[in-house]
Amino acid sequence: IEQTAFQNDKLAMLGQIAAAIAHEIRNPLTSIRGFIQLLHPYLKEIGKQEYANIILSEIDRANDIIFEFLNSSKPSAPMKQNVPVAHLLKEMILLSESEAHMKGCELHCEIFDPGLTVAIDVKQIKQVLLNIIKNAMDAIYEVGDGRRGRIDVSARREGKYALITIRDNGKGMDRTTLGRLFDPFFTTKEAGTGLGLSVSYRIIRNHGGIIHVDSHLNEGTEFLIYLPYTDVKG
Ligand code: ADP
Repeated sequence: IEQTAFQNDKLAMLGQIAAAIAHEIRNPLTSIRGFIQLLHPYLKEIGKQEYANIILSEIDRANDIIFEFLNSSKPSAPMKQNVPVAHLLKEMILLSESEAHMKGCELHCEIFDPGLTVAIDVKQIKQVLLNIIKNAMDAIYEVGDGRRGRIDVSARREGKYALITIRDNGKGMDRTTLGRLFDPFFTTKEAGTGLGLSVSYRIIRNHGGIIHVDSHLNEGTEFLIYLPYTDVKG
């Protein structure tokens, strides 16, 4: 998938739209928060003060989501830290295991160069990997024919890059989907946002990396993530 100037413009626009929406949503949330606090004594009188607490904590959660979203969509420079790729992938597998189990897929991880380290913004790269693993699980789940779902994650050295691959045997993609999957707001899912991969694309690019996709309809998909490596030990 080649990056085009058009895609760049759209990514920049996505950041601006996100900031504007977040701002517009935050204001009403702040006033709702204030009024709920005013209602607190009345709810207490009728023994329903826990309703106020639920509303307040849900408002705070919505604010957190907006904050996270703003963080991920604005083109911030990565806060880099040296991390062994093996650690990173093992943590991703651990985090994804329960959802994988629920969606009927097996997760496998193979590290070919255990000493490989990358300088990355850990939060951002975790977000990318979780996104791609979650998409893989969705693709397996959507096949829904009882086929044993399987996701293979691997890491190896490839030229000056650490190459992380994430392969699934899910539903795969047709040409149209393949051509558009990095577009902001492009989704084929009923409850999708279409933001995961466009944000991932930008994060990898900001790390000086490359993201590539291979997919065959009804067979599966492989994501290849190349990140410049900082060190190989052992
Ligand atoms: P969302 O998951 O909200 O739809 P994404 O940007 O993460 O947004 O993905 C965009 C689209 O790319 C998905 O709706 C799906 O059609 C396609 N896609 C992504 N990963 C896969 C995959 N592993 N297998 C099949 N299709 C995929």
